[in-house]
Amino acid sequence: MKSGPALLLLRRHLLLGAGLLAGNFGSAEAAPAAKTSPKPVGPLPLVMLDPGHGGKDPGAIGASGTFEKHIALATAMELRRQLLASGRYRVALTRIRDVFIPLDDRVTIAQRQGAALFVSMHADALSDRQVRGASVYTLGEVASDQQTAALAVRENAVDRAGVSRGPEVANILGSLVRQETKAGSARMARTMVRALGHDVPLLAHPQRQASFAVLKAADIPSVLVEMGFMSNRDDEAALRKADHRKLVATAMKRAVDGFFAGVSGAKTPIG
Ligand SMILES: [Zn+2]
Repeated sequence: MKSGPALLLLRRHLLLGAGLLAGNFGSAEAAPAAKTSPKPVGPLPLVMLDPGHGGKDPGAIGASGTFEKHIALATAMELRRQLLASGRYRVALTRIRDVFIPLDDRVTIAQRQGAALFVSMHADALSDRQVRGASVYTLGEVASDQQTAALAVRENAVDRAGVSRGPEVANILGSLVRQETKAGSARMARTMVRALGHDVPLLAHPQRQASFAVLKAADIPSVLVEMGFMSNRDDEAALRKADHRKLVATAMKRAVDGFFAGVSGAKTPIG
């Protein structure tokens, strides 16, 4: 698992620090050394944020004319700011401007840069405009429900190349790496749902699965977060506000912290 090495490095660093002191002073008084905050050895884990859509693809368009692509990028930039401020991660975005990036390329960018976690950020539309709330998606061969199946079809349709990976995906589905990645993605999804549920309304059964093309990296735990839906007036109005996007980003940052701390959510809040 990707969270393992960083944690191991941190532990090793702590042990080395204690060992050095013990060697110098030969007593248990080395213990206070642990009070200083050690910096992890080696590169910090890379978190790849993926603001959905962009350029010619606006994503969903809200009743008040809000473009999903702008909401996704603004929230991703805020999340990047918060993650970098913690000093615990490197952060990259699949796009930092209003440009179109094919779905396959988003996955490739994350793989080339060696991302330890992939978080795709969206605020799509559902056919039922009454439905609101945040939700979190992982890759599944079979969609968890009809609503999610329709969502994935629309998402994948923005880029035909994105759905052409069928055979390749089938080949890797059974691999050990794939299984570890799948477990990591599920753990991240649980952590994300729990973190979001503290601060924002959640969709009913907020942890869902479908065959989203952008989640198909075999080796990187990946989740797609619908921060709300442009099809719902309340969600749209909230996501237009910088304060609300900051709240969402803060919750997502807690989820990233939880993921790398190895915390798994035992319970999935239903809201
Ligand atoms: Zn979207």
